[in-house]
Amino acid sequence: MFLVTVFQADHYKSLRNTMVETQLVSRGIGDKAVLDAMRKVPRHLLVPEKIKDFAYDDRPLPIGEGQTISQPYIVAFMTELIKPHPEMKVLEIGTGSGYQAAVLAEIVREVFTIEIFEGLGKRASRDLQNLGYQNIQVRIGDGYKGWPEEAPFDAIIVTAAPSEIPQPLIEQLKDGGSMIIPVGQEGKIQQLILGEKKNGKFKTRTVSNVQFVPFLREQKKS
Ligand code: SAH
Repeated sequence: MFLVTVFQADHYKSLRNTMVETQLVSRGIGDKAVLDAMRKVPRHLLVPEKIKDFAYDDRPLPIGEGQTISQPYIVAFMTELIKPHPEMKVLEIGTGSGYQAAVLAEIVREVFTIEIFEGLGKRASRDLQNLGYQNIQVRIGDGYKGWPEEAPFDAIIVTAAPSEIPQPLIEQLKDGGSMIIPVGQEGKIQQLILGEKKNGKFKTRTVSNVQFVPFLREQKKS
């Protein structure tokens, strides 16, 4: 049994290293901390058991409730854009599987993450705890309102697409901080926006086109 576990861990480690080289490095991800985090986080332990063998494929995967875990490249790209470093306190909206939170937690000091589906939030919280992450807090609720008690944040990552950037999130961003967020209508091409707050002013630019699941609101959820 022990040997089987060691063999499997090795197998997934090698899939992870290949994923990092062929999907991330080859497409221009250069931040060493991000690459190291993605070599380390066991993505296969954060997706539903029956699809764990596809965990390192170059695509998003279903995680239940009609939601998806983002493609590894998108996770790396968004993480790199907030220029993560060990002093940071980061807010994520859309915990999903917990994978993005884990990648962040490998690099930054503290991660606060909000998930609107109770089932997903509880599962992610349990899985992240089992993996030993002590610097991630998961809250169940509508991320539109952010996490005022913990604000301000050095960076905010939103992993579901609203039609406009939620004002409370702009307010909860620290001066000098950055936000990465997909914006647009469901099923249409959405824009990945990088916002930066400087001297109290929030300025945005579009970095690429993306497709994310919609940003839900509490009353519209089911
Ligand atoms: N970051 C996730 C990706 C999950 S997909 C991961 O690494 O796996 C986006 C997630 O956002 C879904 O789980 C969805 O339920 C959640 N979501 C959508 N609208 C939300 C909202 N208003 N507040 C919090 N979470 C939301």
